[in-house]
Amino acid sequence: MRAQPKASHYINGRFVDDERGTAIPVIYPATGEVIASLHSATANIVELAVEAARAAQPAWARLKPVERGRILRRAADILRAHNEELSRLETLDTGKPIQETLVADAASAADCLEYFAGAIAAFNGEYVDLGGPFAYTKRQALGVCVGIGAWNYPIQVAGWKSAPALAMGNAMVFKPSENTPLSALALAEVYSEAGLPDGLFNVVQGYGDVGAALASHEAVDKISLTGSVPTGKKVLSLAGSHMKHATMELGGKSPIIVFDDADLENAIGGAMLGNFYSTGQVCSNGTRVFVQKGLHDRFVERLVERTKTIRIGDPLDPDTQMGPLVNKSQHDKVTDYIAVGKAEGATLQTGGGVPSLQGFEGGFFVEPTVFTGVTDNMRIAREEIFGPVMSVLSFDSEDEVIARANDTEFGLAAGVFTKDLPRAHRVIAELQAGTCWINTYNLTPVEIPFGGFKQSGIGRENSLAALQHYSQLKSVYVETGDVASPY
Ligand code: NAD
Repeated sequence: MRAQPKASHYINGRFVDDERGTAIPVIYPATGEVIASLHSATANIVELAVEAARAAQPAWARLKPVERGRILRRAADILRAHNEELSRLETLDTGKPIQETLVADAASAADCLEYFAGAIAAFNGEYVDLGGPFAYTKRQALGVCVGIGAWNYPIQVAGWKSAPALAMGNAMVFKPSENTPLSALALAEVYSEAGLPDGLFNVVQGYGDVGAALASHEAVDKISLTGSVPTGKKVLSLAGSHMKHATMELGGKSPIIVFDDADLENAIGGAMLGNFYSTGQVCSNGTRVFVQKGLHDRFVERLVERTKTIRIGDPLDPDTQMGPLVNKSQHDKVTDYIAVGKAEGATLQTGGGVPSLQGFEGGFFVEPTVFTGVTDNMRIAREEIFGPVMSVLSFDSEDEVIARANDTEFGLAAGVFTKDLPRAHRVIAELQAGTCWINTYNLTPVEIPFGGFKQSGIGRENSLAALQHYSQLKSVYVETGDVASPY
């Protein structure tokens, strides 16, 4: 199987390479085979990309917003027209099952481009009446924005960052995760085909050092990272030391709270979605499932029954529901956490093993895993695992569960399942999380802001909030009389 792109990087509307860069082997996670070989960006490539973006941006920012939007809209249509091949590419890059990538990856990037294509013309400043004189505010582009992606939703992350940045009149240099470098290159080609002028969306490949070089480049005005909290701290300090704007979309250990009166099947469905989709590699996953005592045993029994039916295997088979983890080190990390959970005294209800799948012996598979009897201070309840490992905890009262749910350094997401709607809103109001759901989990339409409280992040993606984070505000005072000067 091969998925070799024309070259490693896409700069100024063209594929380019510099073979002196460190090798990046692209591995199909289902088999372990190398499907492409790329090079990490050299200093020269980083310069070329930033310079292309810097040169192209001013003319782009001067276009009418509706003209920029038209190009994004065309790109959204092209993404949709190529959804099948892009989904296959994303499956090869990430190992996620094709039944997911067909609906959640290029398709969600297309939704995002379409949204910002339309929203930008309506994203205007304010008129301020000063009783004669007046003022107005204006949102202006920042200039060159850098996007750095994680490996779980590669093209979606590239879309979530580039669409609001470009709609607002910025240029972008995007660095995908070294684990999943392919689909951002495909997105770059789509933008070019849609008529985006050269230099406005550039892709450079690389490891953390390339991300750091971009984050500290003097011609870069903003940096938006999707990644882990430790990386976020490094990138934010680089941004701070160069006084750059920054958005951080980081990790989580989010709670799902299931009250006794919840619809059992929906609550289980939500908890499974929030732990097993994308083989558990979702930042907003609700990996601490708090179930009220009266429902706990029935919940666990049915959860285990349903979890055992998950079809794990060939990601390109449309019937497969769970693929492998992204690479060997993530596989080792997740299996280590499963061992830690057992050693800490949690009860392994189902999963926990590494399935042996004919033809996929070199893949990074792990079974969907449910632990019960988990207590708040166990490592599996405190640390982000980023794999299909659900911890079920039981609770008695509303106040107790709110305090326990909030007892974490993270604050990305939270969910509440109950038929008592006043309680749902009351509890959600107390939860320290940026993205919350009532009676569902992990839906992230572009229309609503997405991002975290506490260590889970700064800033927001999606919705009009993202346009605020890709722009700066100018205030203009207009005098209509004489200048009242004492001199
Ligand atoms: P990671 O932090 O290891 O890497 C993220 C990106 O940062 C990669 O492109 C990497 O090359 C780059 N990077 C690493 N060190 C850097 C440095 N010093 N300077 C600049 N860039 C650097 O994260 P990952 O393992 O790719 O992704 C998993 C993590 O991402 C999890 O913690 C997950 O929760 C988080 N995540 C968050 C969101 C969100 O929207 N909040 C979405 C997806 C994933």
